[in-house]
Amino acid sequence: MLKTIFKYDHNIGLFLVISLVALFAGCQTEDAKDQLLLEDGSIKPRVITTVSPITSIVDAIGGERITLKGIVPEGVNSHTFDPAPSTAIAFSNADIIFLNGLYLEEPALDMALKNKREESKIVLLGNRTLDKSKWVYDFSFPEEQGVPNPHLWTDPMLALEYALIVSAELSALDPLGETYYQSNYKTFEARILNLDSEIKIAVLSIPTSNRKLLTYHDSFPYFAKRYGLTVIAAVQPSDFTEPSAREVAQLIDQVRLEKVPAIFGSNVFPSPVMSQIAHETQISFIDNLRDDDLPGSHGDIGHSYLGLMVENVRTIVVALGGDAEGLQYVDTSPIFQGESQVIYP
Ligand SMILES: [Zn+2]
Repeated sequence: MLKTIFKYDHNIGLFLVISLVALFAGCQTEDAKDQLLLEDGSIKPRVITTVSPITSIVDAIGGERITLKGIVPEGVNSHTFDPAPSTAIAFSNADIIFLNGLYLEEPALDMALKNKREESKIVLLGNRTLDKSKWVYDFSFPEEQGVPNPHLWTDPMLALEYALIVSAELSALDPLGETYYQSNYKTFEARILNLDSEIKIAVLSIPTSNRKLLTYHDSFPYFAKRYGLTVIAAVQPSDFTEPSAREVAQLIDQVRLEKVPAIFGSNVFPSPVMSQIAHETQISFIDNLRDDDLPGSHGDIGHSYLGLMVENVRTIVVALGGDAEGLQYVDTSPIFQGESQVIYP
């Protein structure tokens, strides 16, 4: 019996040694995989982002020189998204973390602060881009709650600010890559300026009395402000529940009063309330505006920040009676040559 136990223990010991060696080898492989060297001897910055438009902007600037992982899956409510406990490992390996900020990703920010390495920086792009005096409070983001509307990226010029910050931060982290990041920024800037002028032309083609937005999810105030549209209402309450029957009745009155030709639902937040409003007012209901859910899937040409904007603007302009023809000339293809290192969750 004693002999059997010894034999058994010996086997367990051997098994443990083998397992530890295997585990150690595994770690080494993981580390090596994680810390890829660039041709100039620099180590690729390991970058974590949150929502897909930001992931796409960081990908456009960082290109082949960085490894990049977004943590908020497309099609989920990014405002309430709580990362899985395993995401802590990604934060602990990151060299830099880009978030929108403006209270959009509080659970992720909290996890990043608790798990990141001391020297790794957290960059809140929205807070860096827009001074507090310019924060927008509105229907779903009322001032008394102190949380501003965080969707700055729906204004391409603010998204360009994000890109400029990303370029500067990546250059600080990886100085030998500065020219590369700046060159990608310049390409991105040219695309954004082209997009901006095509959006202006498209919006101007909408009859003046139709330049009004009623959306379900409240993500277009910065966009509307730049291009001269009025957001007459957003339907979704600040706690992401459904509006009351009384609020729906008020919205119906408002739609009749403002004579809008169409109202816009969200890809991420389907709601029967929108069909009800459209049905009772006899107007069109367009159900696929997106704020952080990129069109198509990773690898498709339009699955990018630029693709997102083109798709949204086309949807809005056509439904409001304008001409979106020029938007087809906006280039939504990848900003840099070579293979993207981005991982969309
Ligand atoms: Zn949103």
